[in-house]
Amino acid sequence: MSRNRTYRCLNCLEHTVSREFDTSHLSVTCPNCGSFERFVNDAVFQQFRAFEESPPVEIDWERLDRTEKLIVSERLVRSTKTLADFEVVEGQASAGKAEAPAEEGEASAGG
Ligand SMILES: [Zn+2]
Repeated sequence: MSRNRTYRCLNCLEHTVSREFDTSHLSVTCPNCGSFERFVNDAVFQQFRAFEESPPVEIDWERLDRTEKLIVSERLVRSTKTLADFEVVEGQASAGKAEAPAEEGEASAGG
């Protein structure tokens, strides 16, 4: 049995596609809105939406733009990073240390 992953169109936020591989995002043409868009891993999007509804106190969530919010969500979902690993500087989310590759499934936050 395959374990399909769901990816959601970041333009219309409605269309989803399934792929057998697990990655943070992919870029395909959305058949719903007709745009060549980034489709984000739906697990990441669910985290993003949860923070939109209930912003985390650890970081200055409201200062981030949507892309940055998605980056933070992606790091939280797809690595072992926690909110304490992020610093909000000049409106940018930074993971601080060198990025661990997220493709390995369980990436190390490095200490
Ligand atoms: Zn779309």
